[in-house]
Amino acid sequence: MKTYRITLLRGDGIGPEIVREAVKVLDTTAAAFGFSVEYTEALLGGCAIDATGVPLPEETIASCKASDSVLLGAVGGPKWDTQPGNNRPEAGLLGIRGALGLFANLRPAVIFEPLRSASPLKEEIIGDAMDIMIVRELTGGIYFGKRGSLEENGVAAAFDTEQYSVTEIERIGRVAFEMAMKRSKRLTSVDKANVLESSRLWRKTMIALSEEYPEVELNHLYVDNCAMQLVRDPKQFDVIVTSNIFGDILSDEASMISGSIGMLASASLNSTKLGLYEPIHGSAPDIAGKGIANPLATILSVAMMLRYSLDEPKAAEAIETAVAQVLQTTRTPDIWTEGTRKVTTEEMGDAVCALIGK
Ligand code: NAD
Repeated sequence: MKTYRITLLRGDGIGPEIVREAVKVLDTTAAAFGFSVEYTEALLGGCAIDATGVPLPEETIASCKASDSVLLGAVGGPKWDTQPGNNRPEAGLLGIRGALGLFANLRPAVIFEPLRSASPLKEEIIGDAMDIMIVRELTGGIYFGKRGSLEENGVAAAFDTEQYSVTEIERIGRVAFEMAMKRSKRLTSVDKANVLESSRLWRKTMIALSEEYPEVELNHLYVDNCAMQLVRDPKQFDVIVTSNIFGDILSDEASMISGSIGMLASASLNSTKLGLYEPIHGSAPDIAGKGIANPLATILSVAMMLRYSLDEPKAAEAIETAVAQVLQTTRTPDIWTEGTRKVTTEEMGDAVCALIGK
């Protein structure tokens, strides 16, 4: 029987509560599909600061590197807000992304049919379903470029630099084209090529790369137009590829369209199969310990892990189908509506497990 090694980074706030349910679902899925999972626990974020003084201990990096994949709950909370910037829980998050070379961030923005009314957009705009995959470059661009502060004629000034190499653009481009090949073969590349030199290189490189993927229909949008189109007609999009900063903003916008922060998963991948999988939401300190957090984003992160790191697509689909089914009758308080059963975090995990492979 195949055994996968997973490092669990439960993190802070609701992190341990939602990871517990995701592990339960993964174990149930493993039993149904004939593989097993070995877990290693490691510390990241506030809990790591409390135990070791730093948000990302060396042992955590070593454990993640020795794993087939990593599952993260969430980090942070008011307890650590007074830490200096480079020792905050979030610094641990950036650190682990860098240490594992996670250059591709996949952020699906999906609306599950039973939750259509949770979207702030009108139902006729959303249509029958919304299913967008945003592929964001995660380790380059302006967040990592040259920056500084200076004084010009006695006035304080500051600068940040957007820089991309062809190698970096090709690397993220390939992830996006491959993704488009597995989906509807439509890819939108987002840039600001009417103004930025780095965007002109981005566009030129994407066009050159498209010759390797003749089946994929590639189109280009300026980022301001894309931001507008996402709320005007989100159905037009399937896979979107973009730079670090544009992806940061557009993926938050797209996830808002789904209306339920507790439902959205994400994956960050490197050039091997290793990935870090986590819900897009934070540690929700306001509801931590109350047993009411929605574990579905973390459970759907496990489905992404099975698909993108562990090559178990049938197991991934079983989880996604179970989640879609469970939502018809069963909801945690954040997505509860009249006529459905209101459940705790643990009961939601049990409800998904009960439907796996059924
Ligand atoms: P948040 O996502 O934690 O919470 C925003 C709101 O959504 C809160 O009202 C919360 O109760 C609710 N919410 C979030 N997840 C939920 C879930 N699964 N079920 C039900 N309700 C849910 O964002 P925030 O309040 O801005 O940040 C709280 C902490 O999390 C901060 O310390 C922040 O830095 C950290 N954070 C961490 C990550 C991460 O670990 N990747 C991401 C974002 C924020």
